Amino acid sequence: MNIPLWTLEQLYTLNSPKLSADLARLDEKTAHFTSWRTKIKKALPSPNEFKALLAELEDLNSLAHRLSGFAVLAFTQNTQDQKAQAFMAKIDEKMADLNNELLFFELWWKDLAEETVKPLRQSQPDFAYWLDRTRAFRSHTLTEVEEKIINLKNTTGNNSLIALYDSITNRYRFSTRDITETNVTQVTRDELMVHVRSANQTIRAAAYHELYRVFSADGPVLGQIYQTIVRDWRIENMRLRHYNRPIDVRHKTNNLQPETVEALLNTIRDRISLFGEFFKLKAKALGLAKLNRSDLYAPLIEDKEPLNFQSGLAEVLAAFERFSPIFHNLATKVIDEGHFHGRPQSNKQSGAFCYSIRPVDTPWVLMTYNGRRQDLFTLAHELGHAVHSQLANKHNIFNFQATLPLAETASTFGEILLADHLMKKTQSISKRSNLIFHLLDDAYATIGRQAFFTLFEISAHEMVENGATVDELSECYLENLREQFADNVEIDEEFRWEWVSIPHIFHTPFYVYAYSFGQLLVYNFWRQYEKEGPNFTPHLINLLAKGGSAAPADIIATSGLGPLDEEFWQKGFEVIESLLQELKLIF
Ligand SMILES: [Zn+2]
Repeated sequence: MNIPLWTLEQLYTLNSPKLSADLARLDEKTAHFTSWRTKIKKALPSPNEFKALLAELEDLNSLAHRLSGFAVLAFTQNTQDQKAQAFMAKIDEKMADLNNELLFFELWWKDLAEETVKPLRQSQPDFAYWLDRTRAFRSHTLTEVEEKIINLKNTTGNNSLIALYDSITNRYRFSTRDITETNVTQVTRDELMVHVRSANQTIRAAAYHELYRVFSADGPVLGQIYQTIVRDWRIENMRLRHYNRPIDVRHKTNNLQPETVEALLNTIRDRISLFGEFFKLKAKALGLAKLNRSDLYAPLIEDKEPLNFQSGLAEVLAAFERFSPIFHNLATKVIDEGHFHGRPQSNKQSGAFCYSIRPVDTPWVLMTYNGRRQDLFTLAHELGHAVHSQLANKHNIFNFQATLPLAETASTFGEILLADHLMKKTQSISKRSNLIFHLLDDAYATIGRQAFFTLFEISAHEMVENGATVDELSECYLENLREQFADNVEIDEEFRWEWVSIPHIFHTPFYVYAYSFGQLLVYNFWRQYEKEGPNFTPHLINLLAKGGSAAPADIIATSGLGPLDEEFWQKGFEVIESLLQELKLIF
């Protein structure tokens, strides 16, 4: 079996008449929908009219998703295809216009009095959750004119600052003169970062040194962009929209109580030394006296023979099957329907993703399969996303996709299923410990590292408000690293510039705690599965099937534990403890 390549023809081709016809249809549908504007302002719609309105809105969004989904997929399969680039730009602009055209509905709905809303929402049970979530932002919403001005001014304001950050940093080229012996001396960041996983300590250190040589040269400018983004965030969200604290905006979109996230961050801060113990053990396994920060991703044993795609896929599917045939079948559908792009190709987007266009479509998965162990885990991760999305396909287009804190549930669970399956299969202690190292590397990167980014963001937003300089922010970041690693890992001064190299904190403030949330949550699900066996399976499947309408109460019910407090998050750490315990017996 060759590594599969997807066929986007099922959606469109860039030259197809259907594509231009659908773009025109979208304009017609939008124009038709805006006729509701005067109708609903004049008189409250009857439940039947409201139903018709929502059906129209869903239909219109469904077409918009199909078009923009195709634009994304066509671009990612070949980022140098000029036609795909042009189409993507066109669609971006169209979607921004569309959002402004449709804004009136959302604002009208938020503005209605509670007793007026009740009969309407009760008449549309499948939309109720989405309608309620929309209204949850009532007290933070401005008038239509103000909202439109913010949208318009953002295109040349905040959005363009983010675009500027991206264009400055995407243009960076890094020298490999001190790293490789080949003739290539100028490489991209992705290509440079391959060397931080090198087996050679000098090469790992040189790769980081080069990374921060380039970023620190622009550090003051990138830092200034960050300060401005932070100020914009504060002005819009605190002064205009009346949020209490900068991070509260994210809690609201994530549908989480601030206390839940505070308990999460406190617990991680409290338990961070567990990762310190892991790093000490890793140093021992590598034969080093102490790890340097640049040794964090050092490999234990170089990957041997690559595993061909057919065998790799078989391992992932067997791991899924062991948990539930439903997982196995939904993952298989992605491959069988030609929605999987795994072949290494030049100009293909790096990284991996699973893209769900509409509830009716099988999701699309892109990754590059080279047969390394890491690729097997990426495959399990992305197919896990695809399973999640298909389980939730009974919902409408507005709430079939999981909210951020739950978005990584099935994907991370899929990875643990794979690790467990591989560990059960092997008798070899070195293979087993390799898998545990892989799991703990991952646990640190998603739980510890992301939580500490969030702690830095909280301080940085506060500091910028009080007029902090870029150097003071870098000093704060270095302090953050010192707390994180204590005396378990050596940190070079150059890491003070790491924060200006993290796109998430520029693009989407406070986004990253969702990773820590998701991973610890999945550990709790895993504990429950180990305890209950197959009885647990339907609980997890039910939670996933709720898609975007899964609430914190559903999470608690699935985990079989109490509220989302510190005790809850501590339980997640038990999984890390027991993995670490096993390693301690080996090393
Ligand atoms: Zn993911």
